[in-house]
Amino acid sequence: MSANTKYIFVTGGVTSSLGKGIIAASLAKLLQARGYTVTIQKLDPYINIDPGTLNPYEHGECYVTDDGAETDLDLGHYERFLNVRTSQANNVTTGRIYQSVIEKERKGEFLGKTVQVVPHITDEIKNRIKLLGKTGQYQFVITEIGGTVGDIESLPYIEAVRQLKWEMGHDCTVLHLTLLPYLATSGELKTKPTQHSVKLLLEYGVQPDILVCRSEHPIGKDLRKKIALFCNVSTDAVIEALDASTIYEVPIHMEKEKLDEIVLKKLEMEQETTVQLDKWKEFLNKFHNPKKEVSIGLIGKYVELKESYKSIAEALIHAGAVNDCKVKVSWIHSESLSEENIAEKLNGLQGVLVAPGFGNRGIEGKIAAIRYTRENNIPFLGICLGMQCAVIEFARNVLNLKDAHSREMNPATNSPVIDLLEAQKNISHMGGTMRLGAYPCHLEENTLAYKIYGKSDIQERHRHRYEFNNEYTKKFVNAGMVLSGVNPDAGLVEIIELPSHPFFIGVQFHPEYKSTVENPHPLFVSFVKAALK
Ligand code: GLN
Repeated sequence: MSANTKYIFVTGGVTSSLGKGIIAASLAKLLQARGYTVTIQKLDPYINIDPGTLNPYEHGECYVTDDGAETDLDLGHYERFLNVRTSQANNVTTGRIYQSVIEKERKGEFLGKTVQVVPHITDEIKNRIKLLGKTGQYQFVITEIGGTVGDIESLPYIEAVRQLKWEMGHDCTVLHLTLLPYLATSGELKTKPTQHSVKLLLEYGVQPDILVCRSEHPIGKDLRKKIALFCNVSTDAVIEALDASTIYEVPIHMEKEKLDEIVLKKLEMEQETTVQLDKWKEFLNKFHNPKKEVSIGLIGKYVELKESYKSIAEALIHAGAVNDCKVKVSWIHSESLSEENIAEKLNGLQGVLVAPGFGNRGIEGKIAAIRYTRENNIPFLGICLGMQCAVIEFARNVLNLKDAHSREMNPATNSPVIDLLEAQKNISHMGGTMRLGAYPCHLEENTLAYKIYGKSDIQERHRHRYEFNNEYTKKFVNAGMVLSGVNPDAGLVEIIELPSHPFFIGVQFHPEYKSTVENPHPLFVSFVKAALK
């Protein structure tokens, strides 16, 4: 076996949204299941430095890593599939590439040269690709190139792939994901769009080695031969990717199609290893054969785009499987809720999750929902803004601080139970200035949180600016709220709960980011269990 890190590039053709991230994660899973070390990286061709400042309607959820990087939601899939942590190095945008090239230019590092897309931008892209390989931690680095081949924005990335393929030879392979549209009138799968997108790649000097073809119908032998012939790949390198009932089936489909075998062959790696997916299959088995069902309301303000709450939805799926139950999620728009209609809107739900978010829109609906769950003993999980809303609700309706609010929503409130830290008050930039990434949290014994985690020291990921205002600690505690998790260094409140309620817990952090197929998050597992009761 060669000691060199092997690089696999995943490009996409014909249309966007074919699921490059899932294919990349599935391939990584298969290689990992053969005993190899693998990581996946996403290169995003947009000019934002990171997706942190993007509205969720643009690109869905912003995923946060341990090291505090605000990244593309595909990194969430990578972690959920591989159960291996990612970092800033796993997500690079055009904005970040240009930023570092321009910084080097200002420092005079280019020695008077004209700074150009080729070679300076492409060199920076190549460096970022090789960075993960250089750590020596991985035998395979899979790099997913965002966008669709032919986009103006992705050209420098494709050029970097061309150069690397030329430099690395058998240490590098290119997998191209395309679509075979089905024409109902003639009852045929059409290969022309695939041929065209491969031609386009060839124009840029890149011959794909493997074609993964998304299709609604099985791809027959003849069609595979035809695609192989027109696109200069071997027939066994034409892989069928049928629509799957869940993304977690895709590794199994890809194994049947021998995607891992062809990749190892192209990279001249030994193929004697076998795929061990027992744990994965056990999860799938539970997922497909639930014994019970539970209805959970997910209350947020971006519910029209389900991608906005990707990690939460996936964490609920993981937690459902552990509990042998199907979690039916009702997506509820917080703007549609009021004190008047809340009983009717939450009718039939066995648990309520109030989602993270920013800004005033829909805030009163969230607060009304929390009041209802508190007063009617419905299991409640509040995440980040959801926890902050639980604090506001308690202040207003139990502590009788009628104008209690977060300073974010009402800067003039007399009862800022959620507030900015002094240190944050002078920050003017929006990007990258929140409390981001993993922070320690100490759990008090004999609390629900302690029972859920089964230990007293945990680490969870954050993405917020505002905090529980410790000036009110006494009032809350005296009224029966338990501040069960606290940051040991700063004394910031991380978890609140109500012991008088069967399951009422709010967390300032984002547990959803850490839930994986192999390690479902204990908070979600316990929440679903409580809802089942
Ligand atoms: N808007 C809140 C804050 O900045 C909560 C953020 C969130 O829910 N991620 O503190």
